[in-house]
Amino acid sequence: MFWRIYWKLVNPYAGVSGSEVMLGPGAKHLPVDELAAMIAHEHGHVLMRHARQRIVWLLTGKWLRPQRWLRMCQEQEFQADRYAVLQGHGVALLRFIRKRSPEYGGPFHPPRHQRLARIHQILSNIQENAP
Ligand SMILES: [Zn+2]
Repeated sequence: MFWRIYWKLVNPYAGVSGSEVMLGPGAKHLPVDELAAMIAHEHGHVLMRHARQRIVWLLTGKWLRPQRWLRMCQEQEFQADRYAVLQGHGVALLRFIRKRSPEYGGPFHPPRHQRLARIHQILSNIQENAP
């Protein structure tokens, strides 16, 4: 897997090829742990082939049911967040998301408070299961 970083993009993006993560110009100014958390989130999208899934959903007409389409996209975001947390980036991801506006990512992303709640839940599960 190789990565490309496109500093001119507005938002981070995991490419369809399954080997690309593209980051926006704001990434240059992030603390390094938040940058790592953001990259881990995008890496999760790549590993789980989310962009390809969305293309399949488009080709199979799932976009014709917009509410279902949005729910599936939002579920992918939860999955990518979970991946980043399990890679050890939970605290930095929480801080990164807290700094964003409540509408960050638009309708394809879950509301900020839901993402934060899920990340907290994953972190508390990790702590409960720690030896
Ligand atoms: Zn994402």
